[in-house]
Amino acid sequence: MNLYDRLAAQFPADRARPCFLLEGGQISYGELEAGAGRIAALLISKGVVPGDRVAVQTDKTPQAVMLYLATLKAGAVFLPLNTAYTASEVEYFLTDAEPALFVADAVALAAEASPLTPLPASVPRADEDLASIIYTSGTTGRSKGAMLTHGALYANATALHQAWGFTERDVLLHALPIFHVHGLFVALHCAFLSGAPMVWLAKYEDAPVLAGLAPSTVMMGVPTFYTRLLNNPGFTKDAAAHMRLFICGSAPLLESTFGEFEARTGQRILERYGMSEAVIITTNPLVGERIAGSVGYPLPGVALRIGGGEATGVIEIKGPSVFSGYWRMPDKTAEDFTADGYFMTGDVGRQDRDGRVWISGRAKDLIICGGYNVYPKEIELILDELPGVTESAVIGLPHPDFGEAVAAVVIGSGDEAAMIAGLREKLAAFKAPKRIFFVDDLPRNAMGKVQKNLLRQTYAGTFSG
Ligand code: AMP
Repeated sequence: MNLYDRLAAQFPADRARPCFLLEGGQISYGELEAGAGRIAALLISKGVVPGDRVAVQTDKTPQAVMLYLATLKAGAVFLPLNTAYTASEVEYFLTDAEPALFVADAVALAAEASPLTPLPASVPRADEDLASIIYTSGTTGRSKGAMLTHGALYANATALHQAWGFTERDVLLHALPIFHVHGLFVALHCAFLSGAPMVWLAKYEDAPVLAGLAPSTVMMGVPTFYTRLLNNPGFTKDAAAHMRLFICGSAPLLESTFGEFEARTGQRILERYGMSEAVIITTNPLVGERIAGSVGYPLPGVALRIGGGEATGVIEIKGPSVFSGYWRMPDKTAEDFTADGYFMTGDVGRQDRDGRVWISGRAKDLIICGGYNVYPKEIELILDELPGVTESAVIGLPHPDFGEAVAAVVIGSGDEAAMIAGLREKLAAFKAPKRIFFVDDLPRNAMGKVQKNLLRQTYAGTFSG
């Protein structure tokens, strides 16, 4: 069944109920449905046929959501692009994906579709038909298009809707971008399957988010949303009182943020772990203990194991929401799956006796110093506890003797030599940073992930220059 129909089946029976709560008004579920139907008719009239890619680089608007649903309804494949991409970056995606249509302005497209009759029935799609291609951020090598099917997206959506206890009484605060799985699939699908309204914000900004908390019950965010909220004195226990759930993911949540958040609001952030290739993989429990630093348990239906037979190693997963391969990269796809069908996520972690998963970072961020493996997270956790340190990123830099040497880039200030000496008492010599650099902020991508590849470039010559 077409994913669109499965989502629309859960829209509220009273289609006059709001879907988007906007600053100056609202848009109902009925209007969403009609808008998606008209744009679907327009896509078909422009020659889009089932399986065609529709590439989209557009502002975050309700019309962009209508376009997403319209693409599903027309049986085409939704290909969202980060609004920060430059023309030459977009050119790569267009060449690689060969879309039938590229939409740069969803509002204009919706206006063009407004005289049309909505497409009555969706184009039939099977579970294994492609619904979307999400290009990974590609910090090493070419960006790869993760192919997600109608069945995979629906399986994840229903698992999350249930795991997080969504109902029609919820109101979701939506301040995430919609070119990434988090804001696009995780957030929208939970709202749609509940027939719930969303407080719709074009992006994260303190004042509108604070105001938006009052009518909302659930917020989904990246860690930077939570640190920014905590930096705002207006964010009080009262301001969060109407909320039943704060969900966080897309990058590691610092234990200090989790702790400060609980101290301020009395609520424990629910951290979950996911990626473009599988949407959400693990989550802390809705009912039960949410532990700082752990990303919780595998979702029902997800088989998770640690590769290599070590306690800590690359996380491997299998399950109904795992992607079906990288677009036009059969060799890369084959490389990333084991013979028995597990996807090697590239994230290093461990699973404790209770089944909880703990992530220590990306495999490619692993540092090998004089032949010894160093997991950056172990050192970051210690650094983050030091007075004067807000956040840290530990990286490996080329070193003439050791191959790689450990260095730390730290938000904060302090005496470098004294700090290194202090760390040497707690850590084996090969693990202790040989240099600590103090900065005002760390480079991050749109989802708040620290870009260690940029740090490695910046400090590349430290030991070998
Ligand atoms: P993306 O495909 O852009 O969504 O990036 C996925 C990657 O983000 C994962 O492979 C992890 O490395 C990272 N990630 C997502 N959620 C978490 C989390 N809760 N804790 C740590 N890393 C995370």
